[in-house]
Amino acid sequence: MLKVEGIHAFYGPIHVLFSIDLEVGDGEIVALLGTNGAGKTTILRVISGVLKPSLGHVTWNGEQIDGMRPAEVVRRGIVQMPGGRGVFPGMTIQENLEMAGFLYGRDRAKRKERIEATLEIFPFLKDRRRQVAGTLSGGQQQMVTLAKAFVMDPKLLLIDELSLGLAPKVVEELLDTVRRLNAEGVAVVIVEQHVDLALDVASRAYFLERGEVRFSGPADDLRGRDDLLRSVFLAGASAGAQTEDEAEVALVHSIHEAEDALAGAEPGRRPRRR
Ligand code: ATP
Repeated sequence: MLKVEGIHAFYGPIHVLFSIDLEVGDGEIVALLGTNGAGKTTILRVISGVLKPSLGHVTWNGEQIDGMRPAEVVRRGIVQMPGGRGVFPGMTIQENLEMAGFLYGRDRAKRKERIEATLEIFPFLKDRRRQVAGTLSGGQQQMVTLAKAFVMDPKLLLIDELSLGLAPKVVEELLDTVRRLNAEGVAVVIVEQHVDLALDVASRAYFLERGEVRFSGPADDLRGRDDLLRSVFLAGASAGAQTEDEAEVALVHSIHEAEDALAGAEPGRRPRRR
């Protein structure tokens, strides 16, 4: 179980999270919703270790994980999926999955086993494993991004804007895949602009406004809260490119941290590809 307690976070002098409390039970799907800039992505960054909170704690199955490096958090089974593009477009599907398998270092057998297990759950990708990822549609690329996260054997998957720029029908299909991963025992926190679709898939929800939790409870109860949801609908689908790129940087950052850790190198010595 994940417990976020009394989290405050800053970007430089800017205070963006104010005393956030949040819980995710084993095998649960929780929606994290809110207006643009409310701090949803920042919460995911705090959980995955990319951003250190200035106050408060994050615990995972009783162990304090705030302050750990992203690679250590990933190794505990908490995997953040980036918003927007999460594939290497010039690589095949298979190569993308192998990149995600970096976590297993030289343990090729484990990596292979994990990729095969992933392809069983994503039969569409199994048939196309030699296809270059950049030639897939946006929805299919998101499918690859989900598969990459699954290769990392997550116990908790943090999903940021699965739907960016995709038609609702495609988003529904992707959310079906999220349900299947959940049925495999993966707990999920989902940040999603398609509020209705997110509430369909989640059992509980949090609604954030200006860095504070304004609602937490059963997903169905949030549906009735027009006072809160109206602000999201008004904001429309304008949030995008900026956070998309930032989230991608965060993933690359985590992969490099993981590589550093596995190589036993001093973290931070490798020049960051930003
Ligand atoms: P969106 O739906 O637009 O992605 P969000 O709820 O995920 O929004 P965050 O991305 O967490 O919100 O941003 C919270 C606040 O922090 C916003 O005011 C944003 O402008 C600011 N912010 C985000 N990233 C940075 C950064 N790297 N440096 C400075 N401020 C940032």
